Amino acid sequence: MFNNVTFFKGESFPLEMHKVRIVQKLSLIPVEERLRAIREAGFNTFLLKNRDVFLDMLTDSGVNAMSDRQLAAMMTADDSYAGSMSFDRLKTTASDIFNKEYVLPVHQGRAAENILAEAYVKPGNVVPMNYHFTTTKAHIGLRRGKVVELYNDSALRLQSEEPFKGNMDISRLEKLLAKEKGNIPFVRVEAGTNLIGGQPWSLSNLKETGKLCRAANIPLVLDASLLADNLYFIKTREDNEKDKSIREIIKSISDEIDIIYFSARKLGCARGGLILTNDPKVNEVLMGLVPLYEGFLTYGGMSVREIEAIAVGLEETLDFDMIRHGPEFINFMARELVNRGVPVVTPAGGLGCHLDAKRFLPQIPAEEFIAGALGAAVFIAGGVRGMERGTLSEERNEDGSEHICDVEMLRLALPRRVFTMSQVKYTVDRLQWLYENRDIVGGLKWIYEPKVLRFFNGRLNSVTDWPEKLAKKFRSDFGDSL
Ligand SMILES: *Cc1c(COP(=O)(O)O)cnc(C)c1O
Repeated sequence: MFNNVTFFKGESFPLEMHKVRIVQKLSLIPVEERLRAIREAGFNTFLLKNRDVFLDMLTDSGVNAMSDRQLAAMMTADDSYAGSMSFDRLKTTASDIFNKEYVLPVHQGRAAENILAEAYVKPGNVVPMNYHFTTTKAHIGLRRGKVVELYNDSALRLQSEEPFKGNMDISRLEKLLAKEKGNIPFVRVEAGTNLIGGQPWSLSNLKETGKLCRAANIPLVLDASLLADNLYFIKTREDNEKDKSIREIIKSISDEIDIIYFSARKLGCARGGLILTNDPKVNEVLMGLVPLYEGFLTYGGMSVREIEAIAVGLEETLDFDMIRHGPEFINFMARELVNRGVPVVTPAGGLGCHLDAKRFLPQIPAEEFIAGALGAAVFIAGGVRGMERGTLSEERNEDGSEHICDVEMLRLALPRRVFTMSQVKYTVDRLQWLYENRDIVGGLKWIYEPKVLRFFNGRLNSVTDWPEKLAKKFRSDFGDSL
């Protein structure tokens, strides 16, 4: 049913079901240069220059590989301010796939969140969700609404067997809907829950969520940015769904949902976003805000070329071979790391392989940014750029103290169809080396700390000369090799 390829000698690894026809040259600079680059970047991987990066595993946003069909579609885009045929094509495709009549364009995912929050969130409102995303929370907070996360106990347990850590806690949702009656503008579920390691929910959990929302007459909103991964996990981990096509699973999901929005920087492998609904009243309200913030209703801040690419990208997302590539490579990477004793988040999710930084570097106190230090060390070890997901990405408490995060993770994103098997193997090798030399790694401290979203632009220094020691150890272990 999954058309798996198996290997004669019993090996098991995922196989790319695409070939590479456009390439970008990479270079790997020597370890001393990597040390210089990360120092210059204030030990913040966001501030590295791409020319110094070998494998860019920062994010999957806007950097998924496009297909030959997407590139071809971009050449036939119809550029006009109003009435673009390109938008008609995207609208027809999206409406058909998601089974929703109304389709509104936005320039990226957070723009959809801005419009939804502007339309529905009033001061003091409560918005329940399985887990927050950074930009979602910011837009709700800006309207003085409050996010309440209703995840299960397993969600924050980094090593577990739980296949659906993204599930909504149904009994907590039921209680909250009763307690906050009249104060909840919508309930939000996020597919492929980003900040807990790309973890999915099950279709049966979504159906229970949908049932409660309908009974309470509260709209259910889906953030479908990471839907491709969630679809893969429903099909492969949920027994009742394994014989269904991806199209059928999307339809079952959509039947539960009143408003769908997504970032097409992720879903659709291009750059843009959409909001979909079947409710004419909802459409009318949101439609009034799109021209104000985004642009006219037939482009919404997107270029028509991207609009064409998204239409094709969405169609390609229905292909199981396409959506399996990311999760299967991530699973391979996590499995190889587990086999070498390197602590990672399990079960592997979508989006990327997540290192469990607290277990990787137990010697570093939380105030010295465990996952941030790991990000810098991974770059020195292999020229691989990851993203810190821990205390460094938090805002300070109101009293000015550090808000210590429950989990400290380093995310190594695998943008879709971008990296090859040998690049994944190389990364695993360098992570194993780093793990065996983990005692050398120390913490970080601020030298410039911006007030908002400090992780993007903040600069740090190492608390000791551990980066120099790490680079020196690399040179002595690897000789004159890169
Ligand atoms: C990336 C992302 C967003 C924001 O999308 P942008 O296109 O980056 O604005 C919202 N929700 C989730 C789950 C995401 O992963």
